Amino acid sequence: MSSAETVPPDRSARFGLRLTVWYATLFISSSFAIVLITYLLTSSSLAQRDHQIIEAKLGEYATVYANGGLRALAETMDVEQRTSGERVFVRVLDGGSEAVLLSNAEGWNVSTLEVATLQLRDGSIVQVGKSTEARRDILARFRATLGLVTLAIIVIALTGGWIATQSAVAPIRRLSGAVRRIIDTGRTDERVPASGEDDAINELTVLFNQMLDRIEGLVRGMRGALDNVSHDLRTPLTRLRGSAELALAGEPDPDRYREALADSVEESDRVLVMLNTLMDISEAESGAMPLKKERFDLRDAAARAIELYHDVADAEDIVLEQGVWADAPVLADRVRIEQVAANLIDNALKYTTDGGRVTIDVEVDGGRARLRVRDTGVGIPESELARIWERLFRGDRSRTERGLGLGLSLVKAIVEAHGGTVGVSSEPGHGSTFTVSLDAAA
Ligand code: ADP
Repeated sequence: MSSAETVPPDRSARFGLRLTVWYATLFISSSFAIVLITYLLTSSSLAQRDHQIIEAKLGEYATVYANGGLRALAETMDVEQRTSGERVFVRVLDGGSEAVLLSNAEGWNVSTLEVATLQLRDGSIVQVGKSTEARRDILARFRATLGLVTLAIIVIALTGGWIATQSAVAPIRRLSGAVRRIIDTGRTDERVPASGEDDAINELTVLFNQMLDRIEGLVRGMRGALDNVSHDLRTPLTRLRGSAELALAGEPDPDRYREALADSVEESDRVLVMLNTLMDISEAESGAMPLKKERFDLRDAAARAIELYHDVADAEDIVLEQGVWADAPVLADRVRIEQVAANLIDNALKYTTDGGRVTIDVEVDGGRARLRVRDTGVGIPESELARIWERLFRGDRSRTERGLGLGLSLVKAIVEAHGGTVGVSSEPGHGSTFTVSLDAAA
């Protein structure tokens, strides 16, 4: 593994911090906007209220003054100022802008007053004012409260944001922790616990675990293949070395050399075939075998394999024939399925004595496409039936026949890589039947 780019372990912490800052900024600015709008609305509604009060009073006092003169106005004011909580200031100016009546004279500081003015028909002016001090007081207290509220919002936003982002980042951190441990230790059996929630993080965790399962399967398959290959090649390679050593021993003899070299070529060929088949089996078993799936009729694959072995069957005086021969569409790798059919026919011919019969059936049964290879050969003893699928297993009676003991392992691996099954039934002395089942294509 390349270590050109290593990820510093505090990345997710920084990501969490960035999220917190984003969240807090958004929360604080929107809260601040709400606070500001509340303040402005309160302030303007207080001003409006003051304005309405003095406008109403102005109308009332102007009427009293117009009807009853200064005396009536003074009386009304007196009564109202005693009974009403709202204190207002009233001034009446005659035509020469002389104040002829002034209530609460000490309060006429125009800078802190909200004033409404009305000119009467006789030229006199009535003015009503109200102090804005109370309003400013309320607003000052309101500002202080809002200041505290804003402070509380900032604290809540920062801590809430931190807690929320920490819990959001926690699964990511667990995931990256597991990845880091796998990188550090090379162990692929580590899994990240999934939360089970219906969210993107859980989906990522599940996918990540599935990917690890797959990698683990591939690594296991490759390790197994390597173990097998190194173990299985030891015997032929030792044989190869033995014959070379034997040839070199003693006096130089061209005939012996020639014989040893011919043996070596033969043995090397066997080793190569064995190596390729073992690799194919491992690939198929680990799911790494590339399958070019296409739709075809199982009969076509069977017919090609029959054609391939026609001469062999003829030479051994064995009848190689089609039996049940029905439409059987499948979605599979045509070349690999032909290889399966050829291997089964090859075995049937190998283990059937001269004058025997090998029959190939193709049919669909209950949604399954079936390829059956029946022979009238030696059969397989009960004790060997379970072992024939093992790599390099060769039956007692097959020692005299050519073969590596890999044919059926390859058949099984290819069929299972297609999601199918392969089975056998046999009657020693009477023959065997091998059946391959694949999903029939719609
Ligand atoms: P090989 O044929 O090279 O020995 P295979 O993996 O194809 O290896 O088969 C494993 C064993 O299964 C054979 O050695 C033989 O004993 C048995 N076998 C396979 N096919 C048949 C058959 N059609 N009839 C009898 N025995 C069979």
